[in-house]
Amino acid sequence: MATVASTFTALPHPAPSSAETRAAILANPGFGSHFTDHMVCVEWTEGEGWHSATIGPRVPIALDPAAAVLHYAQEIFEGMKAYVQADGGIALFRPEANAARFNASARRLAMPELPEALFVEAVRALALADRDWIPAGEGASLYLRPFMIATEAFLGVRPAKQYKFLVIASPAGNYFKSGAPAVSIWVSDYTRAAPGGTGAAKCGGNYAASLVPQAEALARGHDQVVFLDAAEHRWIEELGGMNLFFVFDDGSLVTPPLSGTILPGITRDALLALAREEGLTVREERYSIDQWRADAASGRLVETFACGTAAVVTPVGRVSGRDGDFTIGSGGPGQTTARLKERLVSIQRGSAPDPHGWVQKIG
Ligand SMILES: *Cc1c(COP(=O)(O)O)cnc(C)c1O
Repeated sequence: MATVASTFTALPHPAPSSAETRAAILANPGFGSHFTDHMVCVEWTEGEGWHSATIGPRVPIALDPAAAVLHYAQEIFEGMKAYVQADGGIALFRPEANAARFNASARRLAMPELPEALFVEAVRALALADRDWIPAGEGASLYLRPFMIATEAFLGVRPAKQYKFLVIASPAGNYFKSGAPAVSIWVSDYTRAAPGGTGAAKCGGNYAASLVPQAEALARGHDQVVFLDAAEHRWIEELGGMNLFFVFDDGSLVTPPLSGTILPGITRDALLALAREEGLTVREERYSIDQWRADAASGRLVETFACGTAAVVTPVGRVSGRDGDFTIGSGGPGQTTARLKERLVSIQRGSAPDPHGWVQKIG
């Protein structure tokens, strides 16, 4: 690690936030609207590769108005968290999994891959530079946002020849103060991703396309939108930014398979492993909206939850669509959902053993 760290040139910060300003923000950070003092920046140029790695003040970036990202949306990102652990240390959760997924997204968007060690070191360096910005307390963390944009000034349609990789950070409070309330979701007529498309890549374009469906869900009084498959409009895929799990009365779990149209969540992957360890039968298989409704009505389906880095695990209580609505279980948080969430969070926080080596202590 130490050798990679030296690849970042440290730029001095002329005016870091005062302790008072920071304390006021950390007392009520919310999500995604406050940022730390620093950022990481690394440049890529065709023929030269990655160069000019810096960690310095978080400042606006200058872009030529013809920069490719502004026209053809060559942009990918990641979302991960740094936590204050039970012993006061700082840790990341499976950062190499984010690094690998970032490169998978890069390949799909015809962007250059970043050495995994450089990605992990960039995230680590920023979390340490801004360690005073990591909120303590249950459910709080420093949300880290690595991303890459095409910066070449060129309006022809082809992969750009210049890119910037950046990492910024934002203190995040507990999504839900005391126990996650169940959310209600709207079954969208829009599709998020089609076979052969970019559904498995974490790219901004997927999110741009999900904003109208999400706004429609909100306008109809729901919290989130769920997308069905593009071909048959029947198989459940995922929410706008979270994967889904279904829990049955025999203790088994189902989650949609990684068919290329859903995002391979790291939270999803961790929960699959934890559920199997608990002795639950877990199947990665297609599950239809009609079966979901029928199983909720018969009582065979007892819980549904969504999962992702930002909100960790969120119970789904009610589902509505063109064909009416239905309630899942009691409409509130269920036991298996709560237990799996507790298992995951205690590993992330360092208050439970970490047999998989998922937690990387950084300071
Ligand atoms: C990031 C993301 C997820 C969740 O992935 P995690 O690695 O668990 O945070 C799920 N769906 C979409 C569309 C996403 O962008």
